Amino acid sequence: MAENVFEMALKQLDDVAAKINLDPNIHKILRQPERELIVAVPVLMDDGRIEVFTGYRVQYSSVRGPCKGGIRYHPDVTLDEVKALAAWMTWKCAVVNIPYGGAKGGVKCDPFKMSQKEVQRLTRRYTVMIMPIIGGRRDIPAPDVNTSAETMGWIMDTVSMFEGRTVLDIVTGKPIELGGSLGRREATGRGVMISTLQLLKKMGEDPSRTTVAVQGFGNVGSVAADLLSKEGCKVVAGSDVSGGYYNPKGLDIKGMLEYVKTSKNHLLEGYKKEGVERISNEEILLLDVDVLAPSALENQITERNAAKIKAKFIVEGANGPTTPEADRILEDKGAIVVPDILANSGGVIVSYFEWVQDIQAYFWDVDEINQNLEKMIVKSFDEVWELSKEKKVGMRAAAYMIAVTRVANALKQRGIFP
Ligand code: NAD
Repeated sequence: MAENVFEMALKQLDDVAAKINLDPNIHKILRQPERELIVAVPVLMDDGRIEVFTGYRVQYSSVRGPCKGGIRYHPDVTLDEVKALAAWMTWKCAVVNIPYGGAKGGVKCDPFKMSQKEVQRLTRRYTVMIMPIIGGRRDIPAPDVNTSAETMGWIMDTVSMFEGRTVLDIVTGKPIELGGSLGRREATGRGVMISTLQLLKKMGEDPSRTTVAVQGFGNVGSVAADLLSKEGCKVVAGSDVSGGYYNPKGLDIKGMLEYVKTSKNHLLEGYKKEGVERISNEEILLLDVDVLAPSALENQITERNAAKIKAKFIVEGANGPTTPEADRILEDKGAIVVPDILANSGGVIVSYFEWVQDIQAYFWDVDEINQNLEKMIVKSFDEVWELSKEKKVGMRAAAYMIAVTRVANALKQRGIFP
């Protein structure tokens, strides 16, 4: 990994602290997660061996409400990564003004090398290990990289078995039949699409003359690519861990989505179509396109490649794809970055709607969900945009100024216990 992502998250906080004259005492508190839990997760593997995985749950802040954040399964998961992601969740919930703090969880494992039964046993044991600190009014997990609605269903079932009742509000991103929300699966990608269109509108650009490259073809990237192409943008490149696929005339996103439904591990590997060229994940970042939407993992746009990026608009579908050094280089070049905490907030917004629906046991239709999502993202986008113009700073700085001010104000109003 190119940079310690928690250091990167702290650097972003420190930069904004200087800009908003943050009280040094509050700053000190906000530089540390409230709670970090490391757990050992023994799992019976199909061949009879026991494998012990390391899992984490970090609650960064509960100042504005219950902690909220996804669970990631990946071989590169570390405590520092989970801490960074938990910090970003805190700012994300604050910038879009939903009543949550921030958290994140992860297990260091490679789910592609495990059977579904092994992943299910891992999920259930990990759930029990973090159960002392999660809860519908304390800390509510959701899907992230390599976890899905199915994983959330197992978590909900595990907690429900322990409590002896169906506990709907323990996780969001659940299957619809288990108290999930319509529109949740698409919500993050939809938010990326809405943020992109809002930026194009501000810049007076026509979506039908806009070219887009999307790195990552998972939950976020594939939906963003699909919805942007449906809005008339020309999505010329897409990629996943197997590599990139490029057609200057525009990709057949519908065909690619069909392909990954049945491909091995749902990867694009082996996808072939006339006019489509194979490129690397590095090359996709450097294409001559209008919009680049990094929607895979963190640390993709760094000091190393930022100067070579040609896209004038970067809409961050992933969390932390751009390092602070790269941010400065992009800003000097005049590129506009819609920061992760705003651009990919669609997921947590509809997670919030799911939680509200679960608590009320009353479910909304998809149009209502999508309209409310759009309203919240557009409002937050406009607030960030206005502040960035007023203070003459980039959109990331403006988003952080709004978010950190909200968390700091809540902290001051609550007072320091005891
Ligand atoms: P996912 O597991 O569904 O998809 C991840 C995608 O990235 C896959 O296509 C994978 O092949 C690809 N990928 C992995 N390593 C790569 C590499 N080295 N180069 C290029 N592509 C690579 O995960 P997701 O839920 O789509 O999450 C993607 C990003 O969006 C993460 O940063 C995540 O934290 C963030 N995010 C997700 C949500 C959500 O609701 N799922 C919400 C907000 C932010």
